[in-house]
Amino acid sequence: MRLFNSLVSAYQTIENDWDLSQTRIGPVCGRAHGARCAIGSQLKRLLYPCLFTFVICLLFILQNSSSTVQKTKEESTTIAATIENTPEEQLLTSTKAALDNNSVPLIIVITPTYKRITRLADITRLANTLRQVPHLHWIVVEDGETKSDLVEAVLKRSKIPYTYLVEKFKMPRTKGWSQRDKALGYLRKQSQDIIADGRKAVVYFGDDDNSYDLRLFDDYIRKVKKIGIWGVGTVADSYIESPKVENGKVIGWNVLYAPKRKFATDMAGFAIDLNFLKNSKITFSNCERGRIPEGCFLHGFGLTLDDLEPFGFDKKNPDLLVWHTRTRLFVNKNQDTYGYNVEKIE
Ligand code: UDP
Ligand code: MN
Repeated sequence: MRLFNSLVSAYQTIENDWDLSQTRIGPVCGRAHGARCAIGSQLKRLLYPCLFTFVICLLFILQNSSSTVQKTKEESTTIAATIENTPEEQLLTSTKAALDNNSVPLIIVITPTYKRITRLADITRLANTLRQVPHLHWIVVEDGETKSDLVEAVLKRSKIPYTYLVEKFKMPRTKGWSQRDKALGYLRKQSQDIIADGRKAVVYFGDDDNSYDLRLFDDYIRKVKKIGIWGVGTVADSYIESPKVENGKVIGWNVLYAPKRKFATDMAGFAIDLNFLKNSKITFSNCERGRIPEGCFLHGFGLTLDDLEPFGFDKKNPDLLVWHTRTRLFVNKNQDTYGYNVEKIE
């Protein structure tokens, strides 16, 4: 605005000092030039104001485009700044950012994790995947006594809005059950705020060592209404575990392992709407030891196969969008690590 005002006053100065209405360009008009010259001189009189308006417009466009760049910079600083906030503030900031963006549902990924030889590699790879998904909040739960500084550094560098919690394992040890429960309790407590004002959020359990196609997030998870289900690759000694779908309805399971399961899906094969999830107290820790946690968890909601929304079956040959991979690696645990930041396993 200041720029505009100074331009206007500059124009007034020019008009006063130079008396533009009297300024002539080209030959002076005499009587002999008649009407043509009169029109010509009228046009010339318009020339300066037109030029002036053009310059102002140009400057406005330039100023606006530079302020857009400035705004984009500010927005990315805001996202980065949320990392310094409390976990609660971070989650709310993510939710609101998602809503501000055309009411896109927020994706909440829950990842239990613990110190193992390949964990930093796994978390780094997962961060590299998730950082490409907009409107996503990552809840990472450390299975241990304290947070890992090295993991937290990966989370910070990723710029993904995250919450890093700690939940020590309970004996007998399970693979991330109480850590997922910790995240669920945390979400249920905050759900009123997260999904206030008609906002929507979908919760997904994403283990640290799996492999994820980016389409999983936007094509499947974000579109879940209540509970979405899809095939998972390289799981339970099989190529595939998948729902069996006919006419858009789940009628059973295409699995080799324990085919009689009511919900024969892997942890990576489903996602749940937070509004639905918040009304239940279902946890993994209530499942009997030795039971398959996914089936036990889903059973707790009192669901039938009819409630499941299958994804990927609009294609005759569906793509797998998630694989249950494991980074297997043998290392000599006695090696000196030469000062590198390594999570050593005793
Ligand atoms: N996990 C954990 N504590 C454990 C074992 C596993 O937090 O004691 C986490 C692990 O980091 C992963 C998830 O639980 O995110 C599943 O574990 P894992 O990948 O070992 O299981 P699998 O691939 O055999 O299902
Ligand atoms: Mn795994």
